[in-house]
Amino acid sequence: MGGEGCEFSLEHYRELLEAAKAGGYRFAGFDRAPEAGDLTIRHDVDLSLQAAIKMAEVESEAGAWSTWCLMTRSVFYNLASEEGDRAIERLRALGGRVAHHAVWPHVDLDRRFEPVVAWHNPVLEYMMDPIDGATNAMSPPWYDPERFRSDSNQNWRHRGRDARCPHRELAAGELDWLHLLIHPEIWVYDGHTMQETMESFLAAERELRLEQLRADRIDFDA
Ligand SMILES: [Zn+2]
Ligand SMILES: [Zn+2]
Repeated sequence: MGGEGCEFSLEHYRELLEAAKAGGYRFAGFDRAPEAGDLTIRHDVDLSLQAAIKMAEVESEAGAWSTWCLMTRSVFYNLASEEGDRAIERLRALGGRVAHHAVWPHVDLDRRFEPVVAWHNPVLEYMMDPIDGATNAMSPPWYDPERFRSDSNQNWRHRGRDARCPHRELAAGELDWLHLLIHPEIWVYDGHTMQETMESFLAAERELRLEQLRADRIDFDA
């Protein structure tokens, strides 16, 4: 878990963004090398475009922005659908940048994305390798183990070990710069454990599926 008062909730995500602003950090992307004072928030969107949009709305309200890495080969959502087009449009309208969350070894960069790639569930052998025509988000200088933290399965990770939520260090301006990997689904859906959060996600997906069935002219009364 993340430490006292550090829930994986949108409320605490908002607090984390406020902490970063209080600590004097500036939001940054992958178009240039990291500099002192940068907070580069990267989202790998593994499960839900709806969750990404909810989190982007919180960022926009807080005056923050980030890079959204979206999958073209997800088993959970279809970026090539109308929902996918609308999600990309909405994330950009909220101030976000859109990059590619790729399934190794496939890189499907096209004009929907800026030329930035983050591998989904990478193994160390290729995680940091250069990628033709694109910036690998997990290569130096953007990836520096000392300046990278992730929220993997609601466990804060730093240098491959358990870590704390970075909000206090951000508020105090203690970090030179930080590349922060945030998975929106584990913050957006309610729950005190990963199990509860995934149950909430599944309940939301069921509602979404029902809407999609109706939109697809499935007649429940037939
Ligand atoms: Zn925290
Ligand atoms: Zn992923």
